[in-house]
Amino acid sequence: MNVLIIGGGIGGLTTALFLHEAGIPCRVYESAPELKALGVGINILPHAMRELAKFGVPDEMLKVGIEPLYFCFFSRHGQLIYKEPAGRFAGYDVPHISIHRGDLHQVLMDKVRHRLGDEAVVLGHRCVRIDQDAMGVTVHFEDATTGVPLPGVRGAVAIGCDGIRSRVRQQFYPDEGAPRFGGINMWRGVTRRAPFLDGRNVCRVGAIKTGKLVIYPIRNLPDGQQLVNWVAEIEREGATENDWSTPGRLEDFLPPFAAMKFDWLDIPDMLKSADTVLEYPMVDREPLPRWTFGRVTLLGDAAHPVYPRGGNGAAQAILDANAIARHLGRHPDPAVALTAYESERLPLTTKVVHASRNEPPDTIINRVEELSGGRPFQRIEDLIDRAELKAISGRYARTAGYDLDTMQRRQRGHQEKR
Ligand SMILES: Cc1cc2nc3c(=O)[nH]c(=O)nc-3n(C[C@H](O)[C@H](O)[C@H](O)COP(=O)(O)OP(=O)(O)OC[C@H]3O[C@@H](n4cnc5c(N)ncnc54)[C@H](O)[C@@H]3O)c2cc1C
Repeated sequence: MNVLIIGGGIGGLTTALFLHEAGIPCRVYESAPELKALGVGINILPHAMRELAKFGVPDEMLKVGIEPLYFCFFSRHGQLIYKEPAGRFAGYDVPHISIHRGDLHQVLMDKVRHRLGDEAVVLGHRCVRIDQDAMGVTVHFEDATTGVPLPGVRGAVAIGCDGIRSRVRQQFYPDEGAPRFGGINMWRGVTRRAPFLDGRNVCRVGAIKTGKLVIYPIRNLPDGQQLVNWVAEIEREGATENDWSTPGRLEDFLPPFAAMKFDWLDIPDMLKSADTVLEYPMVDREPLPRWTFGRVTLLGDAAHPVYPRGGNGAAQAILDANAIARHLGRHPDPAVALTAYESERLPLTTKVVHASRNEPPDTIINRVEELSGGRPFQRIEDLIDRAELKAISGRYARTAGYDLDTMQRRQRGHQEKR
């Protein structure tokens, strides 16, 4: 069975690793004509790290990324509301890693080329259509730079890993239109600066009604500084196009954060000193009733894009990759395998889409903003019980599949089976 993977992002490359591990030949077709370190920071939580551990990816990621100690939640006055340990510091057997998306992409690309060979990833091939018959699929491509049609490629199965604006998805859902904008715009950037706090925390600050920030370091620099990733979120009407290369302008997002000069971090200074600022709307898509059409299916953001506020976009793509390879390895009929993959993953990812919209971990800071009326508090315990804050974070973790109990149970199950 020869599998054609459309899209060489995080999901596509991980799918190639899992298929190869299962003994299934595959090749990745990516529209970008060359590899570039695109995007800014990304968090990979333990449920996805455990899957990547099979390929030694966490060790490579740790060489370039940062392993956070804590998730910290601060009010807009810089007061600590709540913190909880992250990854191995919380008892997981694998790390949580914050990393530049370009670094993660490079680590995965190196692994794919090392294990599958240099020919495993074909660049500059933009998928325009997929045909299928009883014996297989034909994927039609155009040259991503010139638009000139390229020869079609034949395979047994095609997997659309082509991201939030998936061409493969569009073929099956031609009337779906643009991704769904939820009324929040994001500006993402990276700033070189001295480590703040102890240089190893993922911090959420403020509240969505008045301006929210997520801040975390993603790389240690040789001069002792760090590359710090930040995301500024502001409610507003009307979305810009969701394109990871749209530059952002400081004056469009600085005002709500201009007074946030804390003893642990001067936020306006960090925003003003950014190397890169990208503007990107917070978008997802309505969960689909099905992903699989015969020998073709969807994976990752092509199947279930989520709001990026729980660290689960890339993670769910990685979990999909493991599942699809397992089912393709188990069932000789590709259509049966793809349907089994969909039955396993679609209901779970639908819950993650809804949880990321309705009760992400940010709920902690938003709740405290409401309860405090936006004023500084004397003692957080007077406003809200710590157990309630922990429960908010725990509910999201359980839905997304990374709470410690579930992961330890799964681990014990695997060990007993062996
Ligand atoms: C350039 C870029 C930068 C990003 N930066 C960040 C970031 O900084 N932080 C963050 O949290 N998330 C970022 N994301 C999103 C994040 O990577 C995904 O949400 C998540 O990893 C899910 O991965 P995916 O493989 O499903 O999708 P993606 O990682 O988006 O990968 C999709 C891939 O498909 C390719 N592709 C698209 N259309 C076609 C086509 N017709 N034919 C062939 N190939 C196609 C794209 O070039 C891309 O490589 C970025 C995505 C991209 C594409």
